[in-house]
Amino acid sequence: MTSEFNLNELKAADRLPSPSGVALAIMRLVQESDATLQQLVQLVKADPALSGRILRFANSAAFGARRPIADVQTAVMMMGMQAVRNFALSLSLMNNSNQVLCPGFDYPAYWSRSLAVSVSIAAITARELTVVPEESFTLGLLSDIGSLALATAWSDIYGECLGSATGASLLALEREHFSIDHNALTLLLLADWGFPAVFLEALKQSFGLKVEGLDRTARFAKQLAFARLLGGYCLADDAQREMLLPGLIKEAAGHALDEASLPGFINEVIGLWHDWGKVCDIKTDVRQPLPEAEAPVQPPVLSGLGLLLVDDDIMLLARLSKQLTAAGYQVAACRDGESALKHIVEHRPQLVITDWRMKPLDGLALCKTLRASVFGKNMYLIMLTSTEEEDALVEAFEAGIDDYVTKPISLRVLLARIRAGQRIIMLQQELEKESRDIQRYTAELAAANRRLKSMANTDVLTGLPNRRYALNRLEQESATALRNNQALSVLMLDLDYFKSVNDTLGHDAGDKVLVHAAKMMRNTARSNDIVCRLGGEEFLIIAPNTDGTTALSLAERIRRCIEENQPQGVALTRPMTVSIGVAGSVGGKAGWEELVKWADDALYRVKQGKRNGVELAGDVEVCHKR
Ligand code: GH3
Ligand code: MG
Ligand code: MG
Repeated sequence: MTSEFNLNELKAADRLPSPSGVALAIMRLVQESDATLQQLVQLVKADPALSGRILRFANSAAFGARRPIADVQTAVMMMGMQAVRNFALSLSLMNNSNQVLCPGFDYPAYWSRSLAVSVSIAAITARELTVVPEESFTLGLLSDIGSLALATAWSDIYGECLGSATGASLLALEREHFSIDHNALTLLLLADWGFPAVFLEALKQSFGLKVEGLDRTARFAKQLAFARLLGGYCLADDAQREMLLPGLIKEAAGHALDEASLPGFINEVIGLWHDWGKVCDIKTDVRQPLPEAEAPVQPPVLSGLGLLLVDDDIMLLARLSKQLTAAGYQVAACRDGESALKHIVEHRPQLVITDWRMKPLDGLALCKTLRASVFGKNMYLIMLTSTEEEDALVEAFEAGIDDYVTKPISLRVLLARIRAGQRIIMLQQELEKESRDIQRYTAELAAANRRLKSMANTDVLTGLPNRRYALNRLEQESATALRNNQALSVLMLDLDYFKSVNDTLGHDAGDKVLVHAAKMMRNTARSNDIVCRLGGEEFLIIAPNTDGTTALSLAERIRRCIEENQPQGVALTRPMTVSIGVAGSVGGKAGWEELVKWADDALYRVKQGKRNGVELAGDVEVCHKR
C-alpha cells in the first residue's frame, strides 16, 4: 500500500458521516471556552426530540439517576456539557437519513448493535464506576463508527469487501483497500470529534485481543470488551445465545457477576436496549447470525476428493467405502437421505454418490433438496440405479443428478465416472477462483481510481480541496445560484508578507504557517463554505447562498481569527496576517469568472493599503483596516 490514509481528504470531499443541525451548533458552542450552560440549554430546547431523549437519559435509573428530573436545564446540568454534546452528536449521526447506501452494509443491524453495546457499557460503568455512564453511553454508541464511515465513504467497494470477508480477514482487507481499518478509523474520527484521549486509549486497548494492566484505562477497556460481547448477545438468536453464554460467563466473572447474577444483568441490558430502541427509533427486534471468525476453508481437490456414499445396503456401503478409500479418496458413508443431508451441511463433501430408493428421504428427494440450497447447488451428484429405463433416468436428471451408474456396480466404471466428475469439479473451482480474482481486481481498480480522483482534487500540504476542485465547484455553485435565484459569494485570501517567512525561517516553517492558516480558515468558516487552497499562500472560499455583506463579515471573522491565533512553534518576526477580497452577487447575475476577478481586484486594493484587512468588491472603503 503506497498511499496513506488522509482523514482531511475525506472530510474535504464531504464523504464522512457528519453531525448536522442542532448537534453541530452544540458541538461548536461547547468548543468555545466561554460557552455557558444557559446557551447550551437554549440550543437543546430548540430540538424537541433531543430534549425528550436527554430528559429520558437523565431519568434512567440504570444510569444512576437518583431523583426524578423534569426540566431540560437540570438534566443538562446533571449530564454535563461534554456528555450532552456527545449525546447530541451520536443521535444526529444515528438519525441522519441521507446516508449513502452501501450494498451489504446492514444499517438497521449496525445501529441496533451499537445501541446494544452502548446500553451495555452504560450499565456496566453504572455498577463499576470507572467512567460516568452518560459518557460511556455515547462512546459505546460510536465505538464502531469507523465501519459506518467506510460504508459512507466508499459505499460500493466496501460493500464488496463485506461480501468477501469476515471477522479478522475484514480488517486486513480494509487496510489493503483503504489504508486503514474500521477500528483505526473509529479512533481517528472520535479524536477529531474531541473525545477525551483516555477514552480513545481504552477503546484502542479493547480492540486488541488481550487487555493488560489494572489502571483505570485498562479497566475501562475490559468493560468495553465485555460490553461488545453483551451487545453481540443481544442481537444473536436463541441458538447462538446458547453458544455465546459460556464466553459471557467467563468474561462476567471479571466484573463481579457470577453465574447466578449474570442472567438478571443480561435481562436488564436487553430491557434497556429495547427501551432505548424506542426512544431513538432504532429496531431492536433484529436477531441475526453473528459473523464467523474466518471463512471456512475448502479442502483442495487434489489432496483426495471428499466423497459421500449414501446407500441403505450396509454390505454395499462397506465394500464401496473400502474400495474407494483404497483408490485414494476420503470417503464418508450414510445410510439414508436424511443423515446424508446433515453430513453434507456439516462437512461439504465435493462429490455425493447416492442410492435411489431409501427411507425416509430417497436419493431423488436428496438431489432436489441439494439443488435448491446454496451449498448444494454445485455439488457433483452420481446416482446409483438398478434401472436404465428412460423415464426413470429423465426424472433423475431433472431432479439434478450429474451422472448415474447402474447396479450391480462395476468398480472400474464407478472410478471412471468419479474421475470425470473430478475434472468438472476442478474446472468449476478454477472458474470460481477466477471470478473471485476478477471481483477483487475490479474492486482494487475502483479503489485506486477513487484514490487518484481524491488526490487530484486535494492539496497535499493542507488537505484542503485544490485549485482544480475550487474552480469546478465554483462553476457548479454559480449554476445553482442562477437556477435557484440565490446569492453566491467568493472570498479571495492571501497571506501577508509570506515570502519573508520562507526567507527568514525556511520553507518548512513556511509550510507550518500555511497549514495553520488553512486550519484557522476551515475552523472559522461555516460548514457549507468551501475552503480551498489555490496555490502558494492564496486561498479561495466559496460561500453558497451568501450575499456580499454577510460574506464580508465572514471574511472579517477569518481575518481576526488568523491575527489572534498565531502559529505555535514558529518564531515569526511579524505576526501572521491575511488580506481578503470579497465579491458577492445575487441570482447568478455575475458569472463565476467575474466574481473571482472582482474579489481579486478587492484583494489587490487591500494589498495596496496596509494589508491585514478585508474589502468588498464595489466598495471603495476598506473595512477594518489596521
Ligand atoms: P504580499 O503580502 O504582497 O502577499 O507578500 P507575499 O510575500 O506574501 O507574496 P508573494 O506572492 O511575493 O510571495 C509568496 C511566496 O509564497 C513565494 C513562495 O516562496 C511562497 N510559497 C509558495 N508556495 C509555497 C509552499 O507551498 N510552501 C512554502 N513554504 N512557501 C510557498
Ligand atoms: Mg502573500
Ligand atoms: Mg501571493
